[in-house]
Parts: sequence; structure tokens; C-alpha cells
Amino acid sequence: MSFGTKKQVRVPYDVHEPSGWADGVAGFAQRHLDGGAVVVLYGNCPRCGDLMDVELPIALQTGGLTVSAETDAEALGPPDRTGAGALAFPKTARCNCQMGHEGRPKEVGDGCGAFGTIEVG
Ligand SMILES: [Zn+2]
Ligand SMILES: [Zn+2]
Repeated sequence: MSFGTKKQVRVPYDVHEPSGWADGVAGFAQRHLDGGAVVVLYGNCPRCGDLMDVELPIALQTGGLTVSAETDAEALGPPDRTGAGALAFPKTARCNCQMGHEGRPKEVGDGCGAFGTIEVG
């Protein structure tokens, strides 16, 4: 058994929703931008292991542009959660790592294709 070869596995580009991927992204560290109007989750993609981030415009919750978010939440069927989760809405996150992945279309430009729906709130 050879141990300690630190060779990174390069996964090919593949648009799909790996099981558990969204949970991993939801557990990323958070950083606030624009005086708190935008939250950025950042960490290593659970699929390819490269650094990625997800921008969450939390201003959606506080005024103006709530219609589409609420419609989406209803269409997707929010989980049965009350209280603290009342303001939560689903957000589709995708890997936007800057590393190359075999088979990725030129017009995409980043990521390994992994995506998932995380709950924001
Ligand atoms: Zn990657
Ligand atoms: Zn990735």
C-alpha cells in the first residue's frame, strides 16, 4: 500500500446533483459582502475538491424582489419546518471552481458540473 501520494483526482465535467453535495455546500464558511446584503458561502466543492463559492443575495428576504423566491419555494415544496426556517428559500448552487475539468463546454467556463439546492434562511 503506498500511502501519502498527494495526487488530486480530476473528475470529468458532469452536470448532475451528487447526493450530499448540497449539504456539504450548506456547511461552508460564510462571508458577508455589501454591508451584509450578500452572503457568500465558500469552501471546497464536495465533488471535485476545488475552491468554489456561492453568492446568496439575502436582500431577497428583506424587501422588493420576493415574488420569484416565494414562487420557487412553493414550486419546489419547502421542507416541513417552522419557526426559524420561515424565511428560508431554496437556492440552486453550482460548483464554480476555477480548475479545469475534462469535457466542460467552453461557454460554461468554470465548475465541475455539480449542483444542488441548498436552503437559505
Ligand atoms: Zn473543480
Ligand atoms: Zn466542483
